[in-house]
Amino acid sequence: MNLVKARGIRKTYQAGEVEVQALKDLSFEIEPASFVSFVGPSGSGKTTLLNLVGCLDRPSGGSLSVAGTDVFSLGRADGATFRGRNIGFVFQDFNLIPVLSVFENVEYPLLMASSLGAKERRDRVESLLEMVGMTDQAKKYPNQVSGGQMQRVAIARALVADPKLVLADEPTANLDHDTAYMVIDLMKSMKEMKKTTFIFSTHDPKIVGEAEIIYTLEDGTLVNREDRRPNHG
Ligand code: ADP
Ligand code: MG
Repeated sequence: MNLVKARGIRKTYQAGEVEVQALKDLSFEIEPASFVSFVGPSGSGKTTLLNLVGCLDRPSGGSLSVAGTDVFSLGRADGATFRGRNIGFVFQDFNLIPVLSVFENVEYPLLMASSLGAKERRDRVESLLEMVGMTDQAKKYPNQVSGGQMQRVAIARALVADPKLVLADEPTANLDHDTAYMVIDLMKSMKEMKKTTFIFSTHDPKIVGEAEIIYTLEDGTLVNREDRRPNHG
């Protein structure tokens, strides 16, 4: 079964008198445990698309199933619950909470959306921090670590509640080239370890790194799909 199945997705924004067709009739499928990139220039629709898949916004048309749920039919509250249970997010500007330590930032989703006890929570957070190589920084605050390290923490936070899918909208846009590659490599190895599907976007075709499937967006339309897995494509 596909983890994500999109059929004829459209999204039109009303900007004053003008209609902007941000997404025009997109159809695609994403398999479980895959590592997928949407590449396209600024304004091509990447954020709009990831927001729809993440149940953060409503479409103008089409259908979208995520983990077997028709997410476009969910109301606001059900959408939020679905998101909390199934989807982790990584952002361009990291979005860590500045007054919480690295450890507390990763623990935060568990405090919000799970019934785990304190010891289980601690074990879970420590194991994630180890996987992303941030154990030694657990007591530090976000402003005491580098941008690349902040993104490692954000990846641990996105994974701590064991989502099926992690969505990362331009996660490397605020990182230098070498750090950007390291962050993509980390997401890939987390995908291998945890079998979580990662979908990330980038405007820089050089930053697709180890992506297995690369979709190219242009002006709200999918113009190419490249499958780099051995024996595919
Ligand atoms: P990307 O993330 O690839 O830069 P976006 O999804 O942000 O692209 O934007 C796609 C198109 O939709 C652009 O033309 C953008 O100006 C337009 N757009 C995005 N959000 C809004 C909005 N809230 N209102 C009006 N137009 C928007
Ligand atoms: Mg964007």
